[in-house]
Amino acid sequence: MRSGATGVFCSSSFTGFASYFIIVSGPPSSRSGAHAAVPLTILESLRHVDAPAHGGGDEFNTELAARRLGMSDTVAAQIERYRRLAARSGRVELEEVAALFRLVGRRTDAGLVFADAGRRVGRRAVRGVRAPALLIRALPAFARNRLGFLLARRAAARILDARLLRDPSIPNAVIDDSPSATATPNGTGCGFYGSALAEILRALTDFDGALFHVRCRSRGESTCEWQGSGRSG
Ligand SMILES: [Zn+2]
Repeated sequence: MRSGATGVFCSSSFTGFASYFIIVSGPPSSRSGAHAAVPLTILESLRHVDAPAHGGGDEFNTELAARRLGMSDTVAAQIERYRRLAARSGRVELEEVAALFRLVGRRTDAGLVFADAGRRVGRRAVRGVRAPALLIRALPAFARNRLGFLLARRAAARILDARLLRDPSIPNAVIDDSPSATATPNGTGCGFYGSALAEILRALTDFDGALFHVRCRSRGESTCEWQGSGRSG
């Protein structure tokens, strides 16, 4: 079987889809796992990307059928479940989240889905600290950036389980046990976290550069780590 080069889902992805929905039947854990906003935004992005293009006329019928998976009632029901969980900062088992990363990781447009989902979860994390973020706009640039970084650190820890550091002026982020690295062999899914961290930093600090995934558990390293480059206030 080719590696899914002609379709969004290859047949093994359908198997993955089934596996994912078997796993999701388990009850959520209160302490371990990932914040429900992680699988929520991945599925929201999947649905967004799979929405029929306006005007129709898609010449690839099989691909169109596969894309409808993201538009299915099953996905809609899961989005609703995660949305309710995320509203009360509920957690989802890592195995379930990893299965979702694995499912999306098999798509030819996985990078696009993960990047979009990362921006979504990043905006969501920033909304969680919105009131202070508005408040700090009145502060001088130096103080605003320092406080903004503290808020970014809180947002990244709460939603992404990421530790945000600065050494001494370049942002650095570490995730010890990211489900993306174990689920996607080449670490494609880590693009979700990179995109989310950049979104948070850009919204709350003067960070204006790029984040590079310098260490990854998918390559046998002990953690996933991102390093910023470019101007960062
Ligand atoms: Zn990684």
